[in-house]
Amino acid sequence: MEIYDCLIIGAGPCGIGAALKLKEAGIKFALINSGTPGGKINVAPRVDNYPGEHEIPGSDLAVKFFQRLLDKDIPIIGDAVLSLKKENDLFIVECEFGKYTAKTVLIASGTRERKVGLAKEEELLGHGISYCSICDGHFFKGGDVAVIGGGNAALKEAIHLAAIAKKVYVIHRRNEFRGSVKLVDELRAMPNVEIITPYIPFEILGEDKVTGLVIENRENGSHRELKLDGLFPLVGQDPNTQFIKIDGVLNEWNTIPVDRSMMSSVPGLFAGGDVLPREIRQIYLAEHDGMVASKGIIDYLSK
Ligand SMILES: Cc1cc2nc3c(=O)[nH]c(=O)nc-3n(C[C@H](O)[C@H](O)[C@H](O)COP(=O)(O)OP(=O)(O)OC[C@H]3O[C@@H](n4cnc5c(N)ncnc54)[C@H](O)[C@@H]3O)c2cc1C
Repeated sequence: MEIYDCLIIGAGPCGIGAALKLKEAGIKFALINSGTPGGKINVAPRVDNYPGEHEIPGSDLAVKFFQRLLDKDIPIIGDAVLSLKKENDLFIVECEFGKYTAKTVLIASGTRERKVGLAKEEELLGHGISYCSICDGHFFKGGDVAVIGGGNAALKEAIHLAAIAKKVYVIHRRNEFRGSVKLVDELRAMPNVEIITPYIPFEILGEDKVTGLVIENRENGSHRELKLDGLFPLVGQDPNTQFIKIDGVLNEWNTIPVDRSMMSSVPGLFAGGDVLPREIRQIYLAEHDGMVASKGIIDYLSK
């Protein structure tokens, strides 16, 4: 079986950042990616905080990242990793369609949206419930929608939806927002946006599709019913690390602690980007991690 020097799991900013450096160094590697190359940027309605670009649509930036991979002729395996094990100093990566072996692995698989945990949330996914306004926002043109959450991702989704929907409710459990003041101010200035705090979702209404949401006031327990066509629960992310079958890699939040070279507690296993334990998840941080990890990988392989 062919043995790679390195396999990178995930072709988001972290994986791509590392791939560009490993290619320059002449390392034998491949990127394994299950989604659209470019990763989460593809679903970001608008990217801020990325030096060199001014408020660029996420999908446009993702195309630029992908183009770099094509220009450098970087090998991408379109597959989903199901398990990662270590046997006799080699990593075994089992995917849906193939099995691969490598001396080192970089985990750059990012995060997925966290479920709110309400009844009908799974059942009505795709029937009024969505985690991505870029993908599904157009279904709610002229309708009433609600965004649940108070971080930057939720605020940006709400701004994007306000240009499409008739009415956008933003429901957040605290009176203060975790997201940036600039985004909150932008939302407050929009005539079709209503910010409702401190409320939590209580019950999703609708049988075959979402028709409304009951919310609960956290201070006095009172309920309010909103009539809705769409619901976007954006309350946080969980790391895509469930495929790691090696003991001691994950912490209690299922993220991956690493040292300064981006190596985890397991020799040869590196991680970067949104799978790390961190407060802020941003493109430039992920890209930075990928670059640093590539140096760690090159040093590790040369030992
Ligand atoms: C709505 C929204 C708006 C945002 N706005 C901004 C912004 O303005 N500025 C900013 O800097 N950041 C922004 N971000 C955050 C930014 O997109 C992320 O921090 C960044 O993409 C993380 O990069 P990553 O490489 O760690 O992971 P990701 O970009 O998540 O890429 C991970 C890749 O791994 C793949 N993958 C996952 N599991 C597997 C598996 N089992 N097998 C194979 N492949 C797998 C995924 O398909 C994906 O392609 C935003 C995010 C969202 C959701």
